[in-house]
Amino acid sequence: MSEAHVWQGQPEPIDHFDGQCEADVVVVGAGLSGVIAAQSAAEAGASVIVIEKFDKPVAHGIDVGAVNSVLQDRAGIHIDPLEAARLVYQWGQQQTNYHLIRLFVDKSGEVMTHYVEMAEEAGYTVRLNTEATARADWDNLDDRYRMFRTAHVFDVREGQDVPKTKWNAEYLLRIAYEDSLKNGAQYMFDTQALQLLKEDGRVVGVAVKDAQGIEKIVAKNGVIMATGGITDNEEMKECFCPMSQYVDLNAYFPRGANMGEGQTMCAWAGAAWSRCYPAPIIHPVNFTPLGPGIDSSWLTVDRDGNRFMNETAYEPLVTNARLNAPGNVAWAVWDSNYMDHYKHMEPIKFSALPENTPELVEKCVESGEYKKAETLEGLAEQIDVPADNLKATVERYNQLVRDGNDVDFGVPERFLSPCEQGPYYATKIRAELLALPYGMRVDNNSQICTHDDYPISGLYAVGGMQGDFFANSYPVTLPGADHGRGVTFGRLVGSALAKGQNIDGTPAV
Ligand SMILES: Cc1cc2nc3c(=O)[nH]c(=O)nc-3n(C[C@H](O)[C@H](O)[C@H](O)COP(=O)(O)OP(=O)(O)OC[C@H]3O[C@@H](n4cnc5c(N)ncnc54)[C@H](O)[C@@H]3O)c2cc1C
Repeated sequence: MSEAHVWQGQPEPIDHFDGQCEADVVVVGAGLSGVIAAQSAAEAGASVIVIEKFDKPVAHGIDVGAVNSVLQDRAGIHIDPLEAARLVYQWGQQQTNYHLIRLFVDKSGEVMTHYVEMAEEAGYTVRLNTEATARADWDNLDDRYRMFRTAHVFDVREGQDVPKTKWNAEYLLRIAYEDSLKNGAQYMFDTQALQLLKEDGRVVGVAVKDAQGIEKIVAKNGVIMATGGITDNEEMKECFCPMSQYVDLNAYFPRGANMGEGQTMCAWAGAAWSRCYPAPIIHPVNFTPLGPGIDSSWLTVDRDGNRFMNETAYEPLVTNARLNAPGNVAWAVWDSNYMDHYKHMEPIKFSALPENTPELVEKCVESGEYKKAETLEGLAEQIDVPADNLKATVERYNQLVRDGNDVDFGVPERFLSPCEQGPYYATKIRAELLALPYGMRVDNNSQICTHDDYPISGLYAVGGMQGDFFANSYPVTLPGADHGRGVTFGRLVGSALAKGQNIDGTPAV
């Protein structure tokens, strides 16, 4: 890494201010994790200032993950916390901080219960998600593909006087935001945090820019950084996570929110970046009737017609392989018996397929989304791969299907479907980036650390800023885990700091 990156240098320190204000707890960023931190600190009696560069709080997404909340309890679902923590830790190849994952798994249920009760009291509903990644019938697969029913969805009731949104996480944001206002939290919108202010090694506040000029915001107990990941900073992405630049689509919004400014401010204040490889949140985007990579697991080939991945529709398996494919191309291929195959792979999802699915499939052919040919040679020509290779790949794959044992890539037998009856179909696997959570090294209290692993006094991270929680891949083991850890740590850090404490009860000195 050259020293040319802005976060590696040192800015001219800001020491002239046009105004000053102070609070017990200062939160930077009014996304979901920041608003929850502010709400929790205000609920615990602290004075709170939230700095947000946009003109309102923002949330996106649907699922908010939690383990063993009142809702799961009501549904008779009990998740083994040790198993859940172990699997998430394993997905990060043991690069992450196991203690943080355990804290999330052990505390998120209690935290979620608090917000479910708050939501129900305010007239909202909350349900467990059963769609997309929340699969109910993968229980007998091995650990790699386990998905627990952790996704909580906040919603409005019929007739409730709240603007409707497809991003259900906004309802939780609204509930927490309104409650924080009731408890006196102050929001400084259209205000950009520029630098952290340090005295004797302790972070004592934030220098911000607003319409009045440069202001000093003093934090008596500490500063909580909640500025999100690095999703919109191309230089950081290239540096830390080049693979994320190969997606077909960016689903991320609002543009300009996650520029990595919080990370840069922390680095200038002596903080270390997480040592983990980032875990971008990348979804397959084939929202077509047969949904390869998200709903179904068809044979997939690269531009040379060779098979190169485990196609099980467990995110992020398919997109990881696709983002590393030569020419950035991967084709899912299936045959005319797709309805039978789909039923075999995904019996529950199959029963929800519309009756006119074959008609919808042909519509995708007409629109060019799906390619179709009577023979494999014809299909190869349409997708521009060598026909001999495609035929050899299909032959090998069909042999593995007959053996019921995919020795090449380990796709479970249930998802292996022969590709032997024309006409044949193909569609491109596409990947979209939702978010790239990546940030600073933290300790077990989510306190941001120096390069030699000492917590920086007065400085904490929550949400996408918090490093060391996910690594390499964002797994769907605990659907909604990104929001979930933001909410959980937002609450744990916010409530503790309100009392001048760390999460573990030690003084926040
Ligand atoms: C379309 C979409 C769907 C998603 N779906 C899900 C899902 O279903 N489940 C899930 O778990 N996750 C989902 N995610 C990911 C998740 O929404 C984000 O990772 C999450 O919002 C991170 O929350 P945060 O509070 O850390 O950061 P953010 O929500 O990004 O908030 C950070 C805030 O900090 C502000 N800020 C930044 N820099 C400064 C500065 N210098 N000064 C002042 N303010 C600043 C920004 O303006 C922003 O408002 C989805 C993401 C997207 C885009």
